[in-house]
Amino acid sequence: MSLIVVGSMAFDAIETPFGKSDKIVGGAATYISWSASNFTNPIYQISVVGGDFPGEELDMLSKRGVNLEGVQIKKDKKSFFWSGRYHMDMNSRDTLETQLNVLGEFEPVVPDSCQDADILLLGNLSPAVQLSVVAQMKKRPKLVVLDTMNFWMETALDDLEKVLSKIDVLLVNDSEARQLSGQYSLVRAAKDILKMGPRYLIIKKGEHGALLFHKDHVFFAPALPLEDVFDPTGAGDTFAGGFAGYLDSTKDFSFEGMKSAIIVGSAIASFCVEKFGTTRLKELNRNDIDERIQEFVDLVNFEISLVSK
Ligand code: AMP
Repeated sequence: MSLIVVGSMAFDAIETPFGKSDKIVGGAATYISWSASNFTNPIYQISVVGGDFPGEELDMLSKRGVNLEGVQIKKDKKSFFWSGRYHMDMNSRDTLETQLNVLGEFEPVVPDSCQDADILLLGNLSPAVQLSVVAQMKKRPKLVVLDTMNFWMETALDDLEKVLSKIDVLLVNDSEARQLSGQYSLVRAAKDILKMGPRYLIIKKGEHGALLFHKDHVFFAPALPLEDVFDPTGAGDTFAGGFAGYLDSTKDFSFEGMKSAIIVGSAIASFCVEKFGTTRLKELNRNDIDERIQEFVDLVNFEISLVSK
């Protein structure tokens, strides 16, 4: 059982209509590993940080079963920094500032120790970096999952198309699916994107849940209606981590297996938004997660008599 996670480790500064954070620890790979480590270990993290990244954050991840051999520490340089401001609906945000710092010259190195991993999760990074990791795998992992964003569709479409042809599962949000396919209907968008390489496509719709597409099948996972959403940062990465971590524990990569995994991903993402940054993820235990999954089951469980019967 093992999972490779590639992605950013960062400092974030977040503004929401309800509050503002100082510089806090974030980054896609940070959220992914906190989430996935509820279900599987070891997790092999591949990332880069500067000398300013707190050692205690790395220690906490190690204690969760995250192997940090693939995390490069550039002592004299600064970590990636991102800041964003959410709109009132908390579904949309503006990026205020991105300082690539160490991420700008990141050349990932896949350690030998993780060459046998079953799942490779490529977090949102430049498609060239994602391709380099795929190329370094001596044996293709059983499942390759990729997250990306509109920025790469605008600036690195050629490389993005190359990496899409090498993966099994693509995670995007609804506007990104529309942008990538040029189709407004998400069903048409899914058909077109599935022709680009991935066998499975997950379209995330924020507070409106997520859709899973595979061949002619489609499945819908709701998002839990929450009274208060405090900070949505990292919800997508937390979803991806829960999804991949759970799949690594079941090894059921069928459509049915993926259905369960997107419910697990949705459940754990619903915790992430309850507090700033990774705070809520650090407090969770398996019991909290099981109770939340049961809430999802109850939310969509109904019996109905068909009118014609
Ligand atoms: P999410 O809210 O799931 O889209 O992820 C937010 C996280 O992604 C934050 O913690 C950021 O540090 C990180 N992030 C934002 N922009 C980028 C980027 N261009 N490359 C890599 N990571 C990023």
